[in-house]
Amino acid sequence: MQVVDDEDFAQIRAQVREFVREQVVPREQEIAESDAIPPDIRARAADMGLFGYALPQAYGGLGLVITQDVELAFELGYTALSFRSLFGTNNGIAGQVLVGYGTDEQRKQWLEPMAEGRCIASFALTEPEAGSDPSGMRATATWTDGAWVIDGQKRYITNAPLSDLLVTFAKVRGTAESDGRIAVFLVPTTTAGVIVGPKDRKMGQEGATSSEVTFDGVRVGPEALISGEIDTGFRAAMAVLARGRVHISALAMGLSQRALDESVAYSAVNRQGGVPTGERQLVQAMLAEQASLVMAGKATAREAAARYLDGTDRRIGPSAAKLFCTEAAGKVADLAVQVHGGAGYMREMPVERLYRDVRLLRLYEGTSEIQKLIVGRELIRQAQA
Ligand SMILES: Cc1cc2nc3c(=O)[nH]c(=O)nc-3n(C[C@H](O)[C@H](O)[C@H](O)COP(=O)(O)OP(=O)(O)OC[C@H]3O[C@@H](n4cnc5c(N)ncnc54)[C@H](O)[C@@H]3O)c2cc1C
Repeated sequence: MQVVDDEDFAQIRAQVREFVREQVVPREQEIAESDAIPPDIRARAADMGLFGYALPQAYGGLGLVITQDVELAFELGYTALSFRSLFGTNNGIAGQVLVGYGTDEQRKQWLEPMAEGRCIASFALTEPEAGSDPSGMRATATWTDGAWVIDGQKRYITNAPLSDLLVTFAKVRGTAESDGRIAVFLVPTTTAGVIVGPKDRKMGQEGATSSEVTFDGVRVGPEALISGEIDTGFRAAMAVLARGRVHISALAMGLSQRALDESVAYSAVNRQGGVPTGERQLVQAMLAEQASLVMAGKATAREAAARYLDGTDRRIGPSAAKLFCTEAAGKVADLAVQVHGGAGYMREMPVERLYRDVRLLRLYEGTSEIQKLIVGRELIRQAQA
């Protein structure tokens, strides 16, 4: 249910837009070169409530619903995607597990520091042989002497090097009825036996961190089990990933808008033979294709969010939107490099970074192939029901 009215949300959106465009965009080069979000930008983001914009107001968040999240993501996607990544897991895949499935005590303990930006939470699902298909996960949680003992290895975990809390998925072992069920645990990163690996060296999104995490005999108490039930994990993962896909669709469109704006601005002044390249019809065709994809993608993300919010579609919409918007964003970023010619291949040009940053969106929170499988399977299931 929407708790922030349209007028208040318009103010939040305007503030974020101004901050992104006036404070973060000018420092993109610094973020890329230092491979970190500067502390003053992190502090300002926390002051603005960005670490908890999608967390409930009862726990210190701004309480935005998914339709508002999408509008905000259009703004956040306009700059280096690593900026959004810093607080993306708190609001998204990690935070929403607590919001949707945590007990009152678990929410009280963790959501407030997360919303204030004092705590960064990561979502630890993926493993070396369990990415697209998490059911093959090998991490285990064994009930031993009044505690859960977690063993296993996770990889590509966003924000793990900065993280205070790992929302960790593992298969329960110990009793016949529990075997094979996937549970989810709240594991403080400081717990003995948690080993966070070095930062992954990635293709793009400099300033965003991910790494491997090893759990070596990590003991946590019964209060660490999300919802107190051993079979919540798979359901929780699928639900938060579906919500996350709507957000990623919009993020992809924020980036696409930036790529289009950069392309128009550059080609309006870049001259060949004394004529701005933007006056050449083949260049205009590229701009037109970018603009059409941006319009279509924004409409798709908004539609998916509306259907998600009113509960009419939480399966096909999120996956169809992520598939369309992230593939479209790849095309828009590629065209942006083309519109810039050789300059588009140079490190100092924003479109060179956009081209690398956007590639990840087709991989995480479910690859494009997995989105196709979800949409296709669900269409047939509905027809047969
Ligand atoms: C920078 C980064 C950050 C990430 N952050 C997180 C995070 O915070 N938390 C987390 O848990 N995970 C995270 N991930 C993991 C991400 O979600 C997975 O990488 C992704 O789901 C793909 O899994 P995989 O890498 O194991 O590839 P695979 O599953 O091995 O896929 C390889 C290829 O096979 C295809 N494929 C796989 N199965 C099928 C199938 N059944 N049918 C058709 N095609 C198939 C895939 O589409 C892909 O093209 C992150 C990844 C990256 C790169």
